[in-house]
Amino acid sequence: MNSVELAGNTLPAIGQGTWRMGEAREQRDAEVAALRLGIELGLKLIDTAEMYGEGGAEEVVGRAIAGLREQVYLVSKVYPHNASRQGVVQACERSLRRLGTEQLDLYLLHWPGSHPLEDTVAGFEQLREHGKIARWGVSNFDVADLQALPGAGCATNQVLYNPEARGVEYDLLPWCREQAMPVMAYCPIGQGGRFLEHPLLNQLAAKHQVSPAEVCLAWVIRDGNTLAIPKATDPVHVRLNARAAQLQLGAEDYAALDGAFAAPTRKQRLRMV
Ligand code: NDP
Repeated sequence: MNSVELAGNTLPAIGQGTWRMGEAREQRDAEVAALRLGIELGLKLIDTAEMYGEGGAEEVVGRAIAGLREQVYLVSKVYPHNASRQGVVQACERSLRRLGTEQLDLYLLHWPGSHPLEDTVAGFEQLREHGKIARWGVSNFDVADLQALPGAGCATNQVLYNPEARGVEYDLLPWCREQAMPVMAYCPIGQGGRFLEHPLLNQLAAKHQVSPAEVCLAWVIRDGNTLAIPKATDPVHVRLNARAAQLQLGAEDYAALDGAFAAPTRKQRLRMV
């Protein structure tokens, strides 16, 4: 599987998202099973957040990684309104309890908020000193936001990126590459559904005998500095996503995708969902 260097770890470039998990009790067993299948298939990075299901997704992840913690690279995120110096520490401790683990591999600020970044980073550094997190990073930060971060401890930036949301290619992705900072792409298959019906994605999928989601994922991770974190509860989807890292698109495929989904030619406002 293609890999990305993140904070001293060589990680498979495709991981697993968990937004919308932990919201419905009757879905939880299926969600746990999907995440465990993903781990078995090498989707080692699991991305969650205190926001998802208001702690429910972290509980699902906690069940999924029970007994498998050392096989998983675990990422969670703090709400901006909890990201004061003490708030970040308390939020992390709540997340650790729900996840049933002693340490997060990576802890992200979910989006820029109103607490001073100095305070948030001081909270992250305190968590690091106490062994509660290995590294910290951010999400939904544009270049100027990243430049305003104190110190040089930020391990990653998690942003919206897929073929129909390419704005970050203009300045954010090159800037991160220059800083040797890997990027984590969320909504890498455009949240599934209608987007995957796009004729070109289907044409390329037929050509390579794969699915449209695999074309999307192979495209998203193509630069070697980007991880993709698709969310899948359906085990068929999990298997396809795991297979995507083997797909090598060719120059013609990239050109066709550029034709259908134009690369940005000027600065665009950072998109978020
Ligand atoms: P995705 O682009 O990952 O799409 C998820 C949807 O696609 C689900 O409905 C899923 O269905 C479906 N799907 C998954 N795999 C396939 C496949 N191979 N073929 C067809 N359909 C498929 O969207 P998300 O919004 O979930 O983003 C991914 C993750 O990124 C989130 O789960 C979360 O962890 C993170 N995120 C972070 C944000 C941030 O602000 N930092 C914002 C948004 C997301 P099913 O579940 O039924 O299998």
